[in-house]
Amino acid sequence: MSGVETLRFLLGDQLTQDLSSLRDIDPARDVVVMAEVAEETTYVPHHPKKIALILSAMRHFAAELAAEGLRVDYVRLDDPDNSGSFGGELRRAAARHRPRRVVVCEPGEYRVLEAMRGWSEALELPVEIRDDDRFLCSRRDFADWAGGRRQLRMEHFYRWMRRRSGILMAGNAPKGGDWNFDKENRKRLPADTALPPSPAVAPDAVTTEVLDLVGRRFAGHFGRLEGFDFAVTRRDALALLQGFVDGALPRFGDYQDAMKQDAAVLFHAVISPYLNLGLLDPREVCAAVEAAYDAGRVPINAAEGFIRQVLGWREYVRGIYWLKMPDYAETNALAAERPLPGFYWTAETEMNCLRQCLGQTRDLAYAHHIQRLMVTGNFALLLGVRPKEICDWYLAVYADAFEWVELPNTHGMAIHADGGVLGSKPYAASGKYIDRMSDYCRNCAYDVKTTAEETSCPFNALYWNFLIEQEARIGKNPRMAMPYRNLARMDPEKRQAIAARARQVIAGFYA
Ligand SMILES: Cc1cc2nc3c(=O)[nH]c(=O)nc-3n(C[C@H](O)[C@H](O)[C@H](O)COP(=O)(O)OP(=O)(O)OC[C@H]3O[C@@H](n4cnc5c(N)ncnc54)[C@H](O)[C@@H]3O)c2cc1C
Ligand code: SF4
Repeated sequence: MSGVETLRFLLGDQLTQDLSSLRDIDPARDVVVMAEVAEETTYVPHHPKKIALILSAMRHFAAELAAEGLRVDYVRLDDPDNSGSFGGELRRAAARHRPRRVVVCEPGEYRVLEAMRGWSEALELPVEIRDDDRFLCSRRDFADWAGGRRQLRMEHFYRWMRRRSGILMAGNAPKGGDWNFDKENRKRLPADTALPPSPAVAPDAVTTEVLDLVGRRFAGHFGRLEGFDFAVTRRDALALLQGFVDGALPRFGDYQDAMKQDAAVLFHAVISPYLNLGLLDPREVCAAVEAAYDAGRVPINAAEGFIRQVLGWREYVRGIYWLKMPDYAETNALAAERPLPGFYWTAETEMNCLRQCLGQTRDLAYAHHIQRLMVTGNFALLLGVRPKEICDWYLAVYADAFEWVELPNTHGMAIHADGGVLGSKPYAASGKYIDRMSDYCRNCAYDVKTTAEETSCPFNALYWNFLIEQEARIGKNPRMAMPYRNLARMDPEKRQAIAARARQVIAGFYA
């Protein structure tokens, strides 16, 4: 191949035909380059199911582009000449095709953007980096919205997004008569509730080949490869979205925060991997949910609750990421210095809530939001795990984890290492919260009702110990007034007993 006009280099999470870097492609003179690179599969030890999902989705997407008549140059992970990095593969592709210029779409990670900025000089070629406009709020618009505000709050951003997008709006008013129905979204799941089937797609020949490769190359990574059932094409992802809207969505709102023994998905959508890879577009997801509400098939607390996640939280965390990086990742506002306990990588613990959430993560590369926030995240917050260690863990183990979305959720929302940029207070909770929202405690070796006994739930002592240790940092936060009032009422002997129990359980995690 020679005489190529534009080389269009695509990353593994840019699997969208309408991508900014493909929009003006000339099929006769341009070439699309895609490469599976080792560096991206191992810079944290990604879950084997996540690696398989991305590689299979890339291979399917490349085939789709080729079927549309585009020239696609695809480098596989096991190609003997594969250099193992984006920069190396781009250099090799430039030598093969001798293009006049390179066009890319900006990545979802600051580290990769920094590398991209050096590509033009390294290749001695013009490299155009285009905006990723698959979001409803551009980086520039978010910066404008944030500019001059003393505090950035999701709820304000969300209402602004509703107004400017017109999503779930009736003229200037929110549909259903209110902006937010979160109060109706905290129900406990009755034990006999029938659950919808979990979304699943059987692997085809391409996926089977990828599974074989991943099984051989990444056997040492935490996570089970067997039972892979993710969608790997836009067509299948759309079918799963429709299945969710028709099946689980009506009860999504009610049971959004509920957790249940041996049940991973409940009424959640499991569409984040497809949104984040580009197989689904957030606009079409919101439109499908709003259409179901308009047709009277879905109550407002479900439709609004779901749209708030996609139009609100997803866009908001991306805005924060790009506004605050690279310094954001370095903060450690609560001076958390303990290592991540080893059981995060084995799921072997007597604490049933953690065993359930970690085991499910190992098996499925999935956990729903409350499991991530109020079990694995809350525990790391209370224990004081070093921010980088827990962030790298989340980045590795979930199929939907890309840094632009993982980092603000973990570093900001779950462990408050950003000191309150993203959320107004730490989401610290004792075992009582987990007991209220799940049936985990019923099946646990520990007693959720006590705090300082040998058999007491470790979350309880860790919770009070956290408040005691962090008083100087968060004690004056008005949103923490109630817990600190309760702490102030505690008699000194009880306080001492709790501190002793906390020391005991912490020592146990590192024994
Ligand atoms: C510590 C922590 C780490 C997280 N890491 C990631 C991550 O790496 N990638 C990721 O996509 N989400 C992450 N989330 C957000 C959320 O947990 C997942 O998006 C959600 O669980 C995905 O499952 P679902 O598709 O079934 O979601 P549903 O509950 O069905 O929600 C629908 C959609 O809303 C979006 N959404 C919901 N909450 C958030 C949120 N807080 N931030 C961004 N989008 C949201 C997702 O696209 C999701 O698919 C994290 C949350 C926490 C607390
Ligand atoms: S008792 Fe404590 S450790 Fe056990 S499941 Fe409940 S919250 Fe988790």
